[in-house]
Amino acid sequence: MGPLTRWLPPRCLFCAAPGSDRIAICRGCRGDLPWLGNACSRCATPLPATAPGLAELTVCGACLWRPPPFARIRVSLAYASPVDWLVRRLKFRGDLAAGRLLGELVAADAAAELAGADAVVPVPLHPRRLVERGFNQASEIAWPLARALGAPLVRRALTRTAATVPQMDLPAHRRGINVRGSFAAGRGHPGRDVVLVDDVVTTASTVAEAARRLIGAGAERVTVVAAARA
Ligand SMILES: [Zn+2]
Ligand SMILES: [Zn+2]
Repeated sequence: MGPLTRWLPPRCLFCAAPGSDRIAICRGCRGDLPWLGNACSRCATPLPATAPGLAELTVCGACLWRPPPFARIRVSLAYASPVDWLVRRLKFRGDLAAGRLLGELVAADAAAELAGADAVVPVPLHPRRLVERGFNQASEIAWPLARALGAPLVRRALTRTAATVPQMDLPAHRRGINVRGSFAAGRGHPGRDVVLVDDVVTTASTVAEAARRLIGAGAERVTVVAAARA
């Protein structure tokens, strides 16, 4: 980034029009994003619309039956066009501007509800995958949120001890088994009120496993934040 471009307003990553609110998306493209509709407040599974006159459902049957270890999941967007494109730009082409935009959209959407958090913890990659990729996509999404919250980004609160198969490549019934025991808590207390950040949440087995390790290390409340829900 040159000394001049640093001070220019960012351009929209989708259409190159000037960005709005100093982030790299214009007002039109931002309005067209697939914002998530009514979803379970615990696990972010989309909920069916209720009949007119009845109260809207806020928690799904699965979470009522067996509540997850985290307090809630806050997801802003559906993993649909063009959000899937942004996530792939970030993960597979190393486009950090795409990660920053995802993080800034999440921060604008969710920061007010997360005020008071002590720490923002990205879901870690296995060290081998981190070396291959050169960056952790969850960290790229987490830092704009940490900055908006005024909370530290704590990369070492968790480590990934097993290189698991990407959850999206597995059938739902295999996902819990795939991630069991795949995280360890880092040294030190992770914070009392922790925001755990991932790029895309599928069945929530990965973030549930990571949340259990954070709670085991002393966190009292873990809120999961993801850019998109697949
Ligand atoms: Zn645009
Ligand atoms: Zn649920």
